[in-house]
Amino acid sequence: LVPRLQPFTSTIFAEMTALAVKHEAINLGQGFPDTDGPAAMLDAARDALYGGANQYPPGPGRPELRAAIARHRSRYGTEYDPDTEILVTAGATEAIAATLLALTQPGDEVIVIEPYYDSYAAAVALAGAERRVVGLAEGPDGRFGLDADALRAAVTPRTRAILVNSPHNPTGTVFTRAELAAVAALCVEHDLIAITDEVYEHLVFDDTEHIPLVTLPGMRSRTVSISSAGKTFNCTGWKIGWVCATPELVAAVKAAKQFITFVSGGPLQPAVAHALDHELTWVDGLRDSLQEKRDRLAAGLADAGFAVRRTAGTYFVCVDVRPLGFTDAAELAWELPGRAGVAAVPVKVFTDHPEEWKHLLRFAFCKRNEVIDEAITRLRKLG
Ligand code: PMP
Ligand code: GLN
Repeated sequence: LVPRLQPFTSTIFAEMTALAVKHEAINLGQGFPDTDGPAAMLDAARDALYGGANQYPPGPGRPELRAAIARHRSRYGTEYDPDTEILVTAGATEAIAATLLALTQPGDEVIVIEPYYDSYAAAVALAGAERRVVGLAEGPDGRFGLDADALRAAVTPRTRAILVNSPHNPTGTVFTRAELAAVAALCVEHDLIAITDEVYEHLVFDDTEHIPLVTLPGMRSRTVSISSAGKTFNCTGWKIGWVCATPELVAAVKAAKQFITFVSGGPLQPAVAHALDHELTWVDGLRDSLQEKRDRLAAGLADAGFAVRRTAGTYFVCVDVRPLGFTDAAELAWELPGRAGVAAVPVKVFTDHPEEWKHLLRFAFCKRNEVIDEAITRLRKLG
């Protein structure tokens, strides 16, 4: 393995899921739901599968899916030409990697907000670029916020792009308009490209609003907006994602993408098109149920003795393990499946500063209520 990829030989999700399977533990580590998406979407996939949609779809993605993505995106007030400004990818993961491969190179720096989804560091390394990490800071209210000064301090003459994930995995922070305005101002001032990961765009709770960075002044020409179907429609294994950007940026990303996978998920593409056009009411129900699950798990974790941090979106809630007498959440995460029959993920693996983040543990609440309740029963015995 080449040196630049040596830090990335295994993922925490594969490791923790393997440990959960070994101990028959409840897996609140890897974030995936344990129920299916809307029935009509599954029917549409079956119809496509038996209806002859089994050969290569067009390189940019099936036209009806690109049209549906454009319609979906217009809910934010941003219009995209489905023929030139939208590209279907193998999940958001490929979209992020292909974007970085297409737009950054050795010598370039990419600003990444810490903690960061694990594929970001690997994808920056694949491109041969360097990551510059800016840490979120915990406020007195338990929310992890973005500090505009820290962000500004990370920009150098070599900065080419910034990766922004909101709603944010693993903290559950949804960036405010003021936080996004600070990002946008830097991008405009320093002529940076913004790459946004919005896979949890529909999973925001209470009165929180997801604001796409691209909607801020000056950002339409410089933002590569990325999302995918997995989280929105409970189909994380389908890996249908997309990129929305200017024709020039999409053409660049496509140049890289076409030699990675070329295309993928042919018969799933019409099903996702159906879902984007017709299943957003179902998604509202999913959102409401996830909000209840967040509250259910958060209350149970507090009851078990953890100090629970605030979560405004995503599948995840983070807790501080110190009130239970532990100092390193990673040590606890490795013990937990054997000791308590529950798996979780330590936040420090998503950072370059493990000391600062070592007290936090991430739990996923995208599970059936009885699964959450059983996990809580088991965790209560820890204290
Ligand atoms: N970004 C974030 C923040 C994620 O949590 C995930 C994991 N689901 C992904 C990207 C990957 O998305 P996909 O499965 O569509 O590749
Ligand atoms: N996005 C999911 C999570 O954060 C896991 C995806 C994966 O297994 N790579 O838990």
